[in-house]
Amino acid sequence: MGGPHHRESLVLRVSITDRCQLRCRYCLPEEGITLLPAENILRYEDIAVLVRHLQADFELTKVRITGGEPLVRRDVDRLVRMLAELGIPDLALTTNGQLLEEFAPILKRAGLHRVNVSLDSLNPETFAALSRGGALAHTVAGIRRAREVGLTPVKVNTVVVRGVNDGEAVALVNFALADDIEVRFIELMPLGEAERLFAASHVPAAEIQAQLAAVFRIEAIPDRPGETSRSYRITDDGGRQGIVGFVNPCTQPFCCDCRRLRLTSDGQLVGCLADGESVPIRSLLRQPGGPDTAALRAAVAAALGAKQRRRGLLRQDRMATIGG
Ligand code: SAM
Repeated sequence: MGGPHHRESLVLRVSITDRCQLRCRYCLPEEGITLLPAENILRYEDIAVLVRHLQADFELTKVRITGGEPLVRRDVDRLVRMLAELGIPDLALTTNGQLLEEFAPILKRAGLHRVNVSLDSLNPETFAALSRGGALAHTVAGIRRAREVGLTPVKVNTVVVRGVNDGEAVALVNFALADDIEVRFIELMPLGEAERLFAASHVPAAEIQAQLAAVFRIEAIPDRPGETSRSYRITDDGGRQGIVGFVNPCTQPFCCDCRRLRLTSDGQLVGCLADGESVPIRSLLRQPGGPDTAALRAAVAAALGAKQRRRGLLRQDRMATIGG
């Protein structure tokens, strides 16, 4: 846990709801989803208790709010305000962008620093088909609004799926260069619904890099410790420059560098996406006389311990519960 002079750094991803208005084919089944009962979902106060506990024991450098879709939970700005008041150096949120045009100014005022927006296609039909009903125009409007209000750097996340959007890398980079945003290509992981699709749908990042290298000048930027994304400086023929990232959990795993802890919407700590283990902490956060610090410390240590027992990407849970 480190002494007072050297505290381990930690990043927390918090899923605040298992609900989502989309049903991305690689993430959720079309129907038959059992949602968690409302009383099992952590209150914002519970989340703040964990954050304060982690701040005491670790150098908590970043908190990312995710879901499900975080913008479908009521009063998400209240949580943002609570976390902003705790002084998180990097306070971010991941969204599908469908409601972002409306929420961007509200989130900015509440103290959010930046957003990552999932955008798998620039073709409205492909976007709607992959997300089962999403509207491309809403997400694009949300991205632009987020930039305007200063939720920057805005990053766009694209999960590459064979036969669906694997021919769109150049178009996505051009979109990003024009709007001064960073696009990150994410390798499909065999989790959730993607377990069934994985063999036919996974595209190794090297393929996308080759597509980009045929059109743009690409130079690697040295890796920053603890980053999951490998970054490249990209320049087009007209001299426009931008950053493109690759998150390659399958072909270039970054496990040894991982300082991420996940909190599910029903209050379980997950140290490793690939490990079946989760540590329930909801009741520890809700003790009437204040949190049970010793038990919480043990739970955090157990979740972090799961990182060492990684067996590969085998976890069965849905990304919508864990939060991606
Ligand atoms: N609803 C929000 C969104 O769409 O960004 C936040 C939650 S979503 C589960 C977080 C991220 O996980 C999204 O970028 C999504 O594309 C990604 N994701 C979900 N399932 C995945 C899989 N099997 N492999 C890779 N990424 C996945």
